[in-house]
Amino acid sequence: MFRFLRVNTDAIWENPVVVRRFQHYLGVFQGKKSARYLIVKKTPVNLSDLMDLSLSEMWEHHKQTRERFNKIESKIEKGQSTIQELDNPEISFLDLKVRIAKEIIQNCHFCERRCHVDRTKKELGFCRLADKSIVTSAFLHVGEEPPLIPSGTIFFIGCTFRCAFCQNWSISQKWGNIDNLNEGYFVTPVSLSKIMEKLAKEGAKNINWVGGDPTPNIHTILEALTHFQVNIIQLWNSNMFVSLEGMELLLDVMDFWLPDLKFFENGFAYEMTKAKSYKEVATRNIKKAYNNGFHEMIIRHLIMPGRVEADTLPILDWCAGNVERAFVNIMAQWRPEHKIHGNPRYNTLDRRVSSQEMDRARKYADQLGIRWREVH
Ligand code: SF4
Repeated sequence: MFRFLRVNTDAIWENPVVVRRFQHYLGVFQGKKSARYLIVKKTPVNLSDLMDLSLSEMWEHHKQTRERFNKIESKIEKGQSTIQELDNPEISFLDLKVRIAKEIIQNCHFCERRCHVDRTKKELGFCRLADKSIVTSAFLHVGEEPPLIPSGTIFFIGCTFRCAFCQNWSISQKWGNIDNLNEGYFVTPVSLSKIMEKLAKEGAKNINWVGGDPTPNIHTILEALTHFQVNIIQLWNSNMFVSLEGMELLLDVMDFWLPDLKFFENGFAYEMTKAKSYKEVATRNIKKAYNNGFHEMIIRHLIMPGRVEADTLPILDWCAGNVERAFVNIMAQWRPEHKIHGNPRYNTLDRRVSSQEMDRARKYADQLGIRWREVH
């Protein structure tokens, strides 16, 4: 039936639950539905010029334009209209989002750090990134969850967290600085769109925005999409420490969400990541993402040694009660790396997760009716 899919991923699309829950994702991949960003590009803003507007005026237009976007998208989803029938507007919803993003970066609040630095003037906040985005690699990733592979993954340098256990610390934390990169290369919106084109041509099922964390690069990603036309899923793969404003920009553009949900105890979350109010921010954003669009989401939860009762079980409870159609990847990949191994401060974390801990988590997920095997 899905003979165009790669052999190694065929089996997952024989699973009726995956097919039912990922209708939009599959429809785009089959060419029967449109990626949301393409509809965002066709949605007009009722303005002839964006230049003289204040940020609050632009947000007001964003709110109004979203209502228009929702109507257009709903018609297309129901088959009452097609994207080909729509004209290219003089100013699109995507143009408005790009313009807002360019304002935000001058007083940066893309994430809940809210550093309020002007990154266009090389003032650096917590992520230490100016306005030019840095990519470290972009390739067809076959290690993601089965419904996602091959995934056109684009890894950005830099992160809004400082995880003590980070397994990607060379690109998230130790990448040097903007004047002296240990890794990666600068990209422009146009060069980033070419990277997307290459990945799509090579057979990617999605464009997977990740890092580090992709959040500091929202402005570049949105502008890259103005230069891109391929009907391919846009996937947000993030720690979800995005600000409300950052979320507003992403919500209509992303088709699929791949959020982390690691902690449920803020004290431990802060000790691990140096982020405050982790639980409130991450759950707020995950719920927002879930409720906007098509509920198509895989939540990644990494089990940590000794943290099943404090974090894993309440997280599973939260998922069952708030995002019931999301799959949850209950991950056993914890390794005591970066600052953890050999550090007396973290001695309770300096081991692998036991099979008893994994069993406890997975049995509890089964009791709650959470689907995890399909994305394991
Ligand atoms: S993206 Fe976040 S961490 Fe980076 S400067 Fe902006 S608010 Fe600060």
